[in-house]
Amino acid sequence: MDSNNKEQKIKFIREQIHKHNYLYYVLNSPQISDVDYDRLFNSLISLEEEFPELITADSPSQRIVSAISGEFKQFEHMSPMYSLANCFNEEEFLNWYKRIQELSGFDKVDLVSEVKFDGLAVSMVYENGFFVRGATRGDGIKGEDVTNNLRTIKSIPMVLRGDPPEILEVRGEVIFPKSKFQEFNESRAKEGLDIYSNPRNLAAGSLRHLDSKVTAQRKLDIYVYGLGYSTINSLKTQWEVLSYLKTLGFKVSELSSLLQNPQHVINFYSDLVKNISTEDFSADGIVVKINKLDVQKRLGVVGKDPRWAIAYKFPTIKSVTRLKNIELSIGRTGRISPVAILEPVNIGGATVKQASLHNFDYIVNNDLKINDLVVVERAGDVIPKVVSFVPEGRKGLEVEWKFPAECPSCGSEIVRIAGESAHLCISSSCSAQLKRLIEHFVSKSAMNIEGIGLKQISILIDNKIISSSADLYCLKHKKSQIINLDGFGEKRFDNWIESIEKSKSVSFSRALVALGIPHVGLETAEIISKNFRNITHLINASEFDLVGLYSIGPKIAHSIKNYFSNQLNQDLVEKLISFGVRFEFDENKDEENHKFDGIKFVITGSFTNYKRTDLVAIIKNLGGTVSNNMSTKTNYLIVGDKPGSKLDFAQSNQIETINVEEFIELTL
Ligand SMILES: [Zn+2]
Repeated sequence: MDSNNKEQKIKFIREQIHKHNYLYYVLNSPQISDVDYDRLFNSLISLEEEFPELITADSPSQRIVSAISGEFKQFEHMSPMYSLANCFNEEEFLNWYKRIQELSGFDKVDLVSEVKFDGLAVSMVYENGFFVRGATRGDGIKGEDVTNNLRTIKSIPMVLRGDPPEILEVRGEVIFPKSKFQEFNESRAKEGLDIYSNPRNLAAGSLRHLDSKVTAQRKLDIYVYGLGYSTINSLKTQWEVLSYLKTLGFKVSELSSLLQNPQHVINFYSDLVKNISTEDFSADGIVVKINKLDVQKRLGVVGKDPRWAIAYKFPTIKSVTRLKNIELSIGRTGRISPVAILEPVNIGGATVKQASLHNFDYIVNNDLKINDLVVVERAGDVIPKVVSFVPEGRKGLEVEWKFPAECPSCGSEIVRIAGESAHLCISSSCSAQLKRLIEHFVSKSAMNIEGIGLKQISILIDNKIISSSADLYCLKHKKSQIINLDGFGEKRFDNWIESIEKSKSVSFSRALVALGIPHVGLETAEIISKNFRNITHLINASEFDLVGLYSIGPKIAHSIKNYFSNQLNQDLVEKLISFGVRFEFDENKDEENHKFDGIKFVITGSFTNYKRTDLVAIIKNLGGTVSNNMSTKTNYLIVGDKPGSKLDFAQSNQIETINVEEFIELTL
């Protein structure tokens, strides 16, 4: 082949692949079989291997360029990405419309209703029809450069169709399909990895993953809904914008509608509320925009919100189901929490089988009984909770629930500490506690041993293979016994051993956290490790010595003394040291890390496995700042159980919200 010929051929194959990508991923109507597609793709790869000088950035082969980026560069959007004002009911929406009538001077204003996708907003720039870069929304002015990760999303065209302008900046929402969410979480759980609380967090976590190969595996999708800066001036309405984006090959939601009055919008909203559970995307409302672009421009922007658009949000998602039973969950410190076992119910697209009941007082105060029909609420990231029972549902078959007198795991007496709402199993040989304790030991904020979760730990304990966290370091001698257990393969075993070996080098503070001493989280552990330098000094310290340290109160000091006064605990530490776990401060390794320099966090809600002070300590240790109040400068809102109005602020200002697992992932 002469050089002209092969260039022509490569070009032809690329065009074919772009076309079939478009048919498959955007229009959802493939015209060739997967096998033929692969054949086409492979022929491109082999030609490019033969003539690497002909590889171009827009080649379909370049969707997955490897290389883990150390961090995302920031770049400025060509025009700002606005946030949206919110309304939550018909009345508020009609008030907005009335105000638009007044401000615009028109009696009748055409509106475009669109789905408000619940994903991660991005901006993408095309030059002469070629995708050149893309970024997250960030603060609306500057975002993170996620170009490589966006390239991996097949529904994003690398080359535009039709007649693209010289420069085009488009806005869209990256989502993770709901249908694949459960499957994805199940496979994570099988690997012992943390699961994501909802498709939005998964989309955000995937798009912001530092390794675009991982992003590529995640099957993200996108809906494009608007223009930023562009060199095209002929478009007069939002409706024309959407059609134009379609002609360029973007995936635009088919649900968007041009509507002539606010009542039609209200109907559109109700229809979507009714049907959303059958759609393959998550949404948290609709977006209503004034159709005419010149009217939009005239109305302008107030603060960060354009006057010409509003988000009409879905209500908090509630469902009614039956409370089948109440079970007890036992924590690593022996704390016992009641958990509602529900008849499985679909709430906002997720199947809910369990919900939080907080504590015994909550059950009594809300008069909840077994067999009650109960209202279960799930809002955003939050763990579902039982809110109330339905009085009309009572048939006389309801049974009052009594807190058991004995621990369901070990049979020891359950104790309620005077003046506190918590019940405790105070046995020192309770296997439920031990399972949770080891789960804590291997967790990311402690020894960070990968691939082992509560399920695997339970099997190992039930089979009497381990009886303490130190036994993990002897697992390598029990290979034949373990790989014969159900669900434990050889490859997996080898990965464990590698991760267990690696854990020996975690810092002194993390090793301290791993012990699971009540009230000793990472912040306290950091202070201790810096001040006492090694575990012997700590064991020999008096409560008085401890209380002398900044932020350590009598409660923590007592807890530490109490822990080491138990010879079994001292033996455990000695055993861990003999296996190579480091219980002393390392001047070289424990140096400061400034990963979060300049990043502003706000925390809302409560957390089951982390104390708020720990999260604050982690952020500060990595150079970040934590504020009590949300502002438009906040980078991340960490959302726990029962978040307050901060979550609303974050959502209406498009500030990124993450759950605690995602936060920990950021720190690694
Ligand atoms: Zn027990």
